[in-house]
Amino acid sequence: MLPFLRSDLVQFTAYTAHTEDDAASQQAASQPDHLDTNESPFDLPGDLKQKLAWAYQHEIAANRYPDGGHGKLKQTIADYVSESLNLPLEPAWISVGNGSDELIRSLLIATCLKGEGAILVAEPTFSMYAILAQTLGIPVVKVGRSATTFAIDLAAAQQALQETQNPPIRVVFVVHPNSPTGNGLTETEIDWLHSLSDNILVVIDEAYFEFSQQTLVAELAQHPNWMILRTFSKAFRLAAHRVGYAIGHPALIQTLEKVRLPYNLPTFSQSAAWVALSERQQLLEAIPLIQSERERLIAHLTTFAELEVWPSCANFVYLKLGQTMAPDLTSFCQQLKQLGTLVRCTGGGIRVTVGSVEENDRTLQNFRSVLDWFKGSV
Ligand SMILES: *Cc1c(COP(=O)(O)O)cnc(C)c1O
Repeated sequence: MLPFLRSDLVQFTAYTAHTEDDAASQQAASQPDHLDTNESPFDLPGDLKQKLAWAYQHEIAANRYPDGGHGKLKQTIADYVSESLNLPLEPAWISVGNGSDELIRSLLIATCLKGEGAILVAEPTFSMYAILAQTLGIPVVKVGRSATTFAIDLAAAQQALQETQNPPIRVVFVVHPNSPTGNGLTETEIDWLHSLSDNILVVIDEAYFEFSQQTLVAELAQHPNWMILRTFSKAFRLAAHRVGYAIGHPALIQTLEKVRLPYNLPTFSQSAAWVALSERQQLLEAIPLIQSERERLIAHLTTFAELEVWPSCANFVYLKLGQTMAPDLTSFCQQLKQLGTLVRCTGGGIRVTVGSVEENDRTLQNFRSVLDWFKGSV
């Protein structure tokens, strides 16, 4: 119908994170628990919102373009990252994006476009790497993970690196800890990353760093071909504002700056990220609660014999249905949704975000109800 469009785009469907508009959720509780996108259950505290509102009224000129260089925000991010390093990091090591999604796209544009490269991912993992690559016509090579530990199949990955040609693999994406499975990189996996050639860009996505407190940022100085991604969408409670950042060697950062849109981050989002970092002590006080709620969820879900539940070092829990129920995964998630618990059904399992205490109570109750319903219906 639209003959001017790229033919490969016709087969794609647009990405939708929340699936609230379908019939099941219309029947669902009027205020469902959004435990499907790993946001913080807590909004910004009122005093921080007031601070931002004040900035909007008194400091932000709505008629002016944003600070396209993100100077003040980059400095504040560099100071925050320095805390994990014990030495000061220069803002030249930081690039800021409209969510880390934008940074992923910029990385792909800078490395693989024009048929020059493919990317490697280990599934199940964050879906945006493959989705963004495909929209740019970049080939995606997928390898698997251990069914028990979710460790990357390194033999398959190594083989893919050696055998993929025309174009070769230029970028390897790993998540630390991985989504949806919640496991951090093992020493063996990190050793493998060390062993990769300088011809390959290694992207380590640390979206859940504040929950795991595991970071490879100290290694960046020795690895100009490594880049770390972080986001304000999770622990910093700013998913509404779309702010992510990349940390890497200044030469790599400069390339990201070349390909991004000039005013990629609205002034209000820059202010929000700056305020969140300035008040990080207050915001990050919620982390121990989320960690202990995660352990409470895991402990309770583990008592349900029909479920297989994995440990997690992020703000979500990954589980699978036992063999007899596994074929019913989709309908299981639909049932949860009807009871008002929205989860992500992915990789053959279910990823549940750790919510507030009340939300987690409802999660456990609704899992119990759906499991009982399935048992009764057999
Ligand atoms: C949530 C998440 C992000 C965040 O993306 P934004 O675009 O910054 O909201 C990035 N990577 C992973 C693995 C995530 O789970």
